[in-house]
Amino acid sequence: MAQTWVVPLDEGSREMRPLLGGKGAGLAEMTRLGIPTAPGFVITTEAWHNYSPGSRSLFPSLWEEVTEALAALEAETGKEFGCRSKPLIVSVRSSPAASMPGQLKTILNVGLTREIVDSLAEQSPRPESWCDAYMRLIRLYGGTVHDIPKDKFRDVLERRQRGGTAGERERRVDVEVPGSVIEEFLALFRDETGGEFPQDPYVQLERSIAAVFDSWFAQNVVEYRALAGIPDDLGTAVVVQMMVFGNMGLDSGSGVVFSRNPATGEKELYGEYLPRSQGEDVVGGLVTPRSISELAREQPKLYEELKDICARLEAAGRDVQDVEFTIEEGRLWILQARPAKRTPLATVKAAVDMAQEGLISREEAVRRVDPESLGQMFVTSLTDASAADLLAQGIECSPGAVSGRVALDVDQVEQMAREGGPVILVREQTSPDDAAVMPLVSGILTRHGGATSHAAVVARGLGKPCVVGCEAMQIDVEEGRVHFGEVTIASGDEISIDGSTGRVFAGRKELVAPCLSEAGELNTLLAWADDLRRLRVLADASTPAEIEVARELGAEGIGILRTERLYYDADFLPIFRKVILAEAQSVRQAALDELRSLHSEEFRAVFDAAQGLPVTVRLLSAPLEHFLPSRDALLTELAELRLAQRWSEEMGRLEEMLRAVDGWTQAIAEYGLRGARLGIAAPDVVRAQLEALFNAAGAGSVGDLRILVPCVTYSGEVEHYLQVISNVADTVGEREGKRIAHSVGAIIETPRAALVADQLASKVDFLCFDRDGLTAGVLSCSQEERRKFLPGYMGEGIIGFDPFSTADEEWVGSLIRLAVERARAARPDIGIAIYGSHCHEPASMQLLHEWGLDALVCDLSQLLAARLSAAQAAIG
Ligand code: ADP
Ligand code: MG
Repeated sequence: MAQTWVVPLDEGSREMRPLLGGKGAGLAEMTRLGIPTAPGFVITTEAWHNYSPGSRSLFPSLWEEVTEALAALEAETGKEFGCRSKPLIVSVRSSPAASMPGQLKTILNVGLTREIVDSLAEQSPRPESWCDAYMRLIRLYGGTVHDIPKDKFRDVLERRQRGGTAGERERRVDVEVPGSVIEEFLALFRDETGGEFPQDPYVQLERSIAAVFDSWFAQNVVEYRALAGIPDDLGTAVVVQMMVFGNMGLDSGSGVVFSRNPATGEKELYGEYLPRSQGEDVVGGLVTPRSISELAREQPKLYEELKDICARLEAAGRDVQDVEFTIEEGRLWILQARPAKRTPLATVKAAVDMAQEGLISREEAVRRVDPESLGQMFVTSLTDASAADLLAQGIECSPGAVSGRVALDVDQVEQMAREGGPVILVREQTSPDDAAVMPLVSGILTRHGGATSHAAVVARGLGKPCVVGCEAMQIDVEEGRVHFGEVTIASGDEISIDGSTGRVFAGRKELVAPCLSEAGELNTLLAWADDLRRLRVLADASTPAEIEVARELGAEGIGILRTERLYYDADFLPIFRKVILAEAQSVRQAALDELRSLHSEEFRAVFDAAQGLPVTVRLLSAPLEHFLPSRDALLTELAELRLAQRWSEEMGRLEEMLRAVDGWTQAIAEYGLRGARLGIAAPDVVRAQLEALFNAAGAGSVGDLRILVPCVTYSGEVEHYLQVISNVADTVGEREGKRIAHSVGAIIETPRAALVADQLASKVDFLCFDRDGLTAGVLSCSQEERRKFLPGYMGEGIIGFDPFSTADEEWVGSLIRLAVERARAARPDIGIAIYGSHCHEPASMQLLHEWGLDALVCDLSQLLAARLSAAQAAIG
């Protein structure tokens, strides 16, 4: 019979994810592949859409289909819902279409009643397992359907087991349960809800499904969605699945395993296992389970089977898998498989390995890695890991080291984050409720839980250092203290954690930055990306040290070397100020001579560092006032001298400087004396730069010397510069007895320059857009000024995005496109580059291709991301 709202697991497939949710589609796929998963059915997201939130019951046609599907499940399993001797017991599991781990509810052991428990306990060699299962149902059902806080149930158990430490008590929760605790659970349920715990399994089922539907609307889930950008109307499916029991004997248990190491990407089973436990125990992070390698020792055949299944799941999903499993009396069941959350390092390693294993193509490997995450790959480590400050050893689960202040709860995290500096969240365990503050913390340390606990999974997803299972630590939240044996750390104190070794230290430690040459797989991936991309990636680097880094990061050349960067240097600044302020021509000339020879030395160092890579030198562009102290600083200094009543030469010098500063600042507005204008107004400075450059080039070896005329508006400016450049080149060339090869380009930053790109192109060898400058010009608004009104504009809906931080297709984009067309019409083979903030991001990268640009110039910190996203843009 046709069903509208329900799909049996053996009729679904992976492609049905929107309808069955991630979990449902995954289970259906496993059923199709013949992987042992418990039978069941899925109530679709369609049904969720038709459900009225908060109604606590299912609409009639849905309920009818659910009971029919349940009857079919009874037939399939040979069990009966509500029957005492052979009861069908199910889990009711949330299954949203978008991944939101642990956010929505799941209820286990639905269908257990007092009578059934008594009867099963009688037949079983381990009656307490059934009591445990029943109590879990009361707790999960009470919590999900009636919002009874988890703590209340835990308190009952703690009262029973007072004596041990909190940790020991928690670990005993699921194993030593006197039957009469059930009475207390039932009484608690009665007190909290004013009603009895339902003994009709069908009531349990209907209410459970409704409650899982409703969990979509819980406050923390709504917040999580807002943060993760998941649409509110996506909804969740619900999986109803036969329970298998991991809490039976010692040959039972449950666990979580990853098909590859989610921290490093290494090809090995990685995970944890807890004998005599039910599913949520391991993930919940309440207890610290055993490593999966113990399963290999204790039950080698099962371990092999698990390994084989992981390989099959990987081959089918073509990605690293995160697998929940349960062993019921020696038989293995897989309960969930999904693409694993992992660190950026693991993503890269697994993608490269999988491509080399032939599981995915190189293009696919390149596509899989988020360029933005590359920055997180280079994890820091501790320089001095001396045992003296060692506080404790936990389980390492998300690599990288961090020093920061200890925060014991969400409020403290928020407060300390506001105060600034890194914050380390220290907790018994984390829960999905902490999701909102996770972006604010720099590291996580928990007392309980293993490498597959919530804290570990979240930290790896965010690429943050994390240590779990640090059992030696005692946390006293009320007192605001953490005890590590004798040593006590107060909240707000600094500690250091190393997520690569699991060690925890007192105080701040020195951190070392990572090294690219050690990142083997990343280099392989980037080499593949280099083969695939069309856009050239050049560096914005100005000093020999930066140029060396640029080379190491794979830049194909230096796209912009900003000559004025040098003048901020302590050796140069006083000399350059002399040039700017000198009134007598002779003084100015002497200062320029000094500048020229220093500059020439610097250029030689630059060429050495570039080792033959093309170097594009941008001539002086910044307004001269940038090199003078601010008016305020001068006034303060003068006032101090006056207060001290020390009339000195220094004062006279400062007053002179102040007069000059006033003169300059009045003359220079936003679009004032800068770029080519400056060079034409102060020709001797640019000439000195060019002489320094050609002297260095003539003496040393430079592969490909390129000179950029800064911010032009008229083609006449370019002509002027060309003349000066060839004049200097000829003079130096004659002296050196050789021609010094060079090419000349111009920066398009003003809208007029874009409009006359054809005229420019017929004169120069290459062009370079300054996208931020052009945006400011097109909008008549500087990057800084925009902050004063743009947020308001976006709030009012006057404009939908920030044109400085999002590639702007319409305005600036259309101007660039036009300029490229005109330039190429005048000179078809002209090289055209672009630089500007956010250009390296994937969304912009696509546009750069469409605009027909050849090269992107970017900051050192963006080079790797740019190489990768250029490849992604090229393969689409
Ligand atoms: P979540 O979305 O929070 O991971 P799940 O629906 O996966 O929730 O269930 C929580 C835990 O219960 C998991 O560890 C899972 O393996 C276990 N579980 C769910 N259904 C069953 C079942 N039918 N038999 C045994 N364990 C189950
Ligand atoms: Mg799960």
